[in-house]
Formats: sequence, structure tokens, C-alpha cells
Amino acid sequence: MTDNLGVDNDWFEELSSEPFLIAGPCAAESEKQILDTGRFLAETGKVNVFRAGLWKPRTRPGTFEGARLEALPWLKKLKQETGLKLITEVARASHIDAVLEAGIDMIWIGARTTGNPFAVDEIADRLSGVDIPVFVKNPLHPDPELWIGSIERFKDVGIRKLAAIHRGFYPYEPTELRNLTNWDIPVELMRKFPNLPMICDPSHIAGKRELVPEIANKALSLGMNGLMIEVHPDPDSALSDARQQLDFELLKNFLDLK
Ligand code: PEP
Ligand code: MN
Repeated sequence: MTDNLGVDNDWFEELSSEPFLIAGPCAAESEKQILDTGRFLAETGKVNVFRAGLWKPRTRPGTFEGARLEALPWLKKLKQETGLKLITEVARASHIDAVLEAGIDMIWIGARTTGNPFAVDEIADRLSGVDIPVFVKNPLHPDPELWIGSIERFKDVGIRKLAAIHRGFYPYEPTELRNLTNWDIPVELMRKFPNLPMICDPSHIAGKRELVPEIANKALSLGMNGLMIEVHPDPDSALSDARQQLDFELLKNFLDLK
């Protein structure tokens, strides 16, 4: 079925259990970390897609910026062994070339990129004629038009498998959650574009692992179609977003509650 954005959601319905679950570490750090996490997630039987960031957009230089191309063989190996589909963030046209060649199944556009129409255009141009699902995170600041505009730029180059990810909005002042929920904004997109799957990323909203389940459940209660959750074998030693990643036990607890 097609809505006024002109996208259909058949591809998503084919993939989706209820709810659709993307899980994996914030960043790919080592082959062992990827394989351990992926094997565990595959065993749960509830994960549709494995996530791992290869290029990490860090606030300050000099911190871990991702394993980059080195991680592609780790992901390929995981896919071969478990059959899990793979998703990663792309922020430049050159990232697209690398992930397409490696057989990554889906891509997401990060919050910092969504807010930059030039960057989105460059990525969209490179995707012209490519049939790959594109998940667009909301921009850092709460502007629904900017989020929609970015999604439209992908639609305009012929991408038909589109989804949105709500990852919260920059708070501008100290708050309990890392990012503001502004639930009205994703809900507005859901109303405007009923065929656009809406995924919630409770990890980046919560910023603390103990708050992730509450945000995830709230998103599902609002009718969102799925979740993207950060999971790491040893979150406290993670090289990025250590505080918000779930360990295996916490993810198991969360899934058992469903
Ligand atoms: C991430 O998913 O690890 C990430 C960097 O996300 P965001 O673009 O939402 O900050
Ligand atoms: Mn992260």
C-alpha cells in the first residue's frame, strides 16, 4: 500500500516479527565482540537485523572513531554464520560504496547527517538506482520538516524502502534522559505517513541502560513498529556509548517481558 509520501511498506512487513528488532553494539570494536554479540542475538530468535557502527561520529576528535573498513569482514562472517541481516551508518558517498560491496543489507542515516541537506543529497545521489532499505534518524534538533525533508531526498532518487528512527532530540540543558523524547514529533510523522515504518532507538534517548526498557515500552505503546537497541558483551568497557548499552542478561530480561 502506498501513502502520500509515495512509499510502500511491503518490504518491512515481510521482514518484521512483532516488534521489528534491530540490535547490536554501538560500534564494531573487534571480531570477537561482533561474533559474540551476533551469536547471542541470533540465538534469541527475536532479532531481525544486527547493527554495528563502522564510522562513529564523535563529539571530540581523538576518541574512538570506529573500526571502519577493518570491520567489514567481521560482519560478513557473522552474516554467513548466523544469517542475520546487517545494518550500519553511512555518512558519506564513499561509505556507501564500501558497504554495498560488502553485502550490508540496510543502512541508517545518523542524526548529525539528517540535519545537513548537502550531506543527505550526496548520499542520496550515490544511492540512485540502488535497491536498499534506508532508515533515517531524526535530526538533533526537534524539526519535523528537516526529518521529513531528508526522507524525501531519498524518495526522490528512487529509494522505496524507507523507515524513520526516533532517537530523541538534543536537550540543551541537563536532563535525566540523554535526549528529549518529544513523542509528538514521531507521532506526527506516523499520522502523516502511515506506511513509513517508525522505529524507536531507546538507547540514544535513555543514555542509561536502566532506562532503556521504559522508553522502549512507551514507544511500542504509541504504535511504533520496532526498536533499535544497543547491546554489548561488556558495556562498561565499550569504546563508545558505554553507559547506555545493554548486556546480554539485560536484553534477555527485556525480551522475556514482551
Ligand atoms: C548510533 O546509532 O550509534 C548513533 C551514532 O546514533 P545517532 O546518529 O542517533 O546519534
Ligand atoms: Mn551509539
